[in-house]
Amino acid sequence: MEMGDVCQVCGQQCCRKTEKFGRIALSEKDFLRIEFHVKEPFARRFHSKNGWIYLMELRDEKCTFLRTDGKCSINSFKPLDCKIYPLLFHYSDGQITFFVSFRCPFHHQVPEEFIEGATQEAQKELVEWSEQNLKGYSEIVSSNG
Ligand code: SF4
Ligand code: SF4
Repeated sequence: MEMGDVCQVCGQQCCRKTEKFGRIALSEKDFLRIEFHVKEPFARRFHSKNGWIYLMELRDEKCTFLRTDGKCSINSFKPLDCKIYPLLFHYSDGQITFFVSFRCPFHHQVPEEFIEGATQEAQKELVEWSEQNLKGYSEIVSSNG
């Protein structure tokens, strides 16, 4: 499941200007997995109207895990949100709908195989998310676009 060369060309914009792209959301499972490896604070819990989610802390509008060489320092255990981006999802009335974010400058060039792979990966993982996490994530995505 690869985005190919487009992220290289783009320069990892979604890790660099995360306020523009929308905050990076972590489920409880994501948070616990990262917390196991990372000892410094890296996320805070955000309560929305109907649910809750963790949001990654930023430094200078960048994810704190973005290395100077443009690589992700937690690549092997990064959040689902990062694994599947620019694929996003929305949860409503028990249904999950996937869509590609228009904020990704290469959203028209996202390979079909990536969308299929990311959808399958998300579907496998989302069965373990609580409904409160699904609702919290969806509210973040709705406000971020
Ligand atoms: S997913 Fe989109 S915004 Fe993020 S690095 Fe790749 S091309 Fe850029
Ligand atoms: S965790 Fe990694 S992939 Fe996700 S925004 Fe941070 S640097 Fe980018």
